[in-house]
Amino acid sequence: MRRRTVLAGLTGLSAGLALPATARAEPQSRPNGPWIQPEQVVQKVALTENADLGPKLAGIAARSGGRMSVEVAGRSATGWPIHLARFGEPAPGKTSLLIQTQIHGGEPLGTEVALHLMQTLATSSHPTVLDVLDKLAIWFIPRLNMDGGDFRNADGFLVQRRQNTQPWTPQEWGLAPGTPAPWYLPRQLLQPGQTPGYDINRDFSPDLGFRLGPGDEALLPGRSELPGFFVTPEARTSAAVFQRMRPDFFIDHHHRGSNTQSDTDNQLTTLQLVGIVTAGTPDFPLDPAARDLAFQVNVLVWDRLRELGNSGFGGITRYPDVELPGTALGSYALNGAGIMLYETRSVAQKSMGMLIQQSLFGFGATLEGLTDGSVYAVDPNRYHDIPPAGPSIGNPRDDL
Ligand SMILES: [Zn+2]
Repeated sequence: MRRRTVLAGLTGLSAGLALPATARAEPQSRPNGPWIQPEQVVQKVALTENADLGPKLAGIAARSGGRMSVEVAGRSATGWPIHLARFGEPAPGKTSLLIQTQIHGGEPLGTEVALHLMQTLATSSHPTVLDVLDKLAIWFIPRLNMDGGDFRNADGFLVQRRQNTQPWTPQEWGLAPGTPAPWYLPRQLLQPGQTPGYDINRDFSPDLGFRLGPGDEALLPGRSELPGFFVTPEARTSAAVFQRMRPDFFIDHHHRGSNTQSDTDNQLTTLQLVGIVTAGTPDFPLDPAARDLAFQVNVLVWDRLRELGNSGFGGITRYPDVELPGTALGSYALNGAGIMLYETRSVAQKSMGMLIQQSLFGFGATLEGLTDGSVYAVDPNRYHDIPPAGPSIGNPRDDL
C-alpha cells in the first residue's frame, strides 16, 4: 500500500505516486509537481559545462521573483568563478541548509540535481514549496571544483577529474623550499607532463580559519586521519560560506567512483548514504545532537526512497565507516552541522536521469522533513539499520 497522505510530507514525486488522478490534476500539481514526477524521465541529460553554469544560475535567479540570488563566492585555483545561490537568509526560527556539489570534478550529477531543485524553488507556486521557502534558508554551492569539472585531455576533450588544478607552492605559506606537498596532491600528478592538483575533499579542517604558516613544515604531508590544510581556494571558499551561514545541515553530493560503469550492475546499489565520517578530534568533538540529526535525515531519505517501490531506484546502503576529518562533511560536522553524504552510482549514460531523480527525491524529502518537522520524529538509532555496503565497493577512502 502506497502512502496516501497528500504530498506525504514528501516531494511531488511521491505525491505523483500516491495521489489519485483527480488530485494530481489540481493546479498546484501541474505540470510537474513540486519537484519531479516519476513518469517525467530525465532523458539525454546534457551536463552543464562550466561556461554555461553562471548563465544558467543567473537565468533561474531572474525568473525567481526575488526568491533566489546568485553571487560569485570565490575563484578556483585557475580563476573560474565559484557560485553561491541563496534562497533566504539564516534567522532565528529558520532551519538552514547548505547543499554542495561536485567537490570532485568528475562527479557531475549533483550539480544537475541542484539546478533542477533551484528551478523548482525559484518558480513553483506549489504550497509545499512556499512552505519550504518560508521555513528554511537553503544555499547551494553548485560545482565547487570548477577546475576538475572542466579538466580536459591533451586533445581538448572534456574528461573532468577528481582534483583541481593547482601546484604545490610552499613559499606561498612561508614554508621552506622542499617541504613536501600535502598528501592529497597525488604523487603521480607531480610527475613531468602531469597537471598537479589537490583532492579538495581532504583539504578541510574543523579549524575553519586554519592556514599554514612559517614553522609548520613538520605538519606536512599529513595523513588522511588528520585535518587538511586549506591550501586550495575552493576549500577556503566553501568554508567561508559555511562560516557565513552556519547551517544546521550540510549535504555533499558525490559519485561512487568517477567514471562509467557497466549498465549491467544497474540493480546493484544505486546510492550510498552516510551520516558520520569522523568521531571528532580532541579540539573539535562531535556534537551528539548534530550526529543524531544527521542520522535522522539519512534514515528519512532511506525510508522515503524505499517507499517508492517500483521506482527504478535500486538498493540503498550505508557508506563504509571512515575517519576523515579533512573532508567538508567531517569538518562541518565538527562545527555543529548535521551531515549527509550522497554517493550515487557512477555515471552510466542510460541511468543518469534515474540517478538525478533519485538524488532530487532525496533532497526534496529532506527539505520537506525539515520544514514540517517530521524528521525530528525519526529514531536516530535506526541509522544502523541501513544495510552496510556490499563487497564490491572499493576503498572508501578513494570515493568520498
Ligand atoms: Zn566524491
